[in-house]
Amino acid sequence: MLSALRRAASIAAPPACGCCELPLPGGEAVCSSCEVELRAGRPRLGPAPPGVDLAVAAADYEGAARKLAHAIKFRRRTGLAALAAELIARACPAGELRGTAVPVPAEPWRRRWRGFDPAEEIALALAGLAELPYRACLRRARGPRQVGRRRSQRLADPPRVSVAAGVPPRVLLVDDVRTTGATLAASAAALRGQGCLEVVALTLARSSHRPRTPPLVAPARRTYDSATHAGSPTGKENHREDRRPRQERGGDR
Ligand SMILES: [Zn+2]
Repeated sequence: MLSALRRAASIAAPPACGCCELPLPGGEAVCSSCEVELRAGRPRLGPAPPGVDLAVAAADYEGAARKLAHAIKFRRRTGLAALAAELIARACPAGELRGTAVPVPAEPWRRRWRGFDPAEEIALALAGLAELPYRACLRRARGPRQVGRRRSQRLADPPRVSVAAGVPPRVLLVDDVRTTGATLAASAAALRGQGCLEVVALTLARSSHRPRTPPLVAPARRTYDSATHAGSPTGKENHREDRRPRQERGGDR
């Protein structure tokens, strides 16, 4: 099944592996080595962000899965969304792949800049693969960029998500990469506020986001902002916060 998808995804892709960029004269979407690694990816279930009943990621955000996410998002290889959808479908527990596929909404400016959105592409591919309805019923207001922000910053200032169309009773909330889960939680809250009863979050990859050091400040407190020096009550805490090692960063969300 995956091999068939490799061929299908390759139609819209240049002749190079979507993960490692090795030339592929046969036109496959990914090389055999990367396919083996993707097949061996360990699905990650939970813990679910607030408002989400079940969170499933097809793999950790590393290795071939990370390269696949990057190829879709940054190299515009949208044909690989079919492969991502296949991996997500394989990772989803039996009986859970039902409901309406809803993409996690992108920031409007980012959607316009790219001309596409990875979550939309993967959600559409998943809907086609599993013969599910698709509805892009969420909108995201312009807000602070999530990429490059510390985990505490992301959690303290979550994205602003609203419902733009009718809400299905059971939603499969689809994204490419889960980082803190803040966008998934904001999306789930918006859906449940309009009557959605079940939310299952499905992502290609999940960033482990393990901090290398324990936090020095409470999560709810604003942390040091190198651009404005705003948000930290004392210079001492600014100094302490500024010396923390940078956490591993994941995708946009
Ligand atoms: Zn490869």
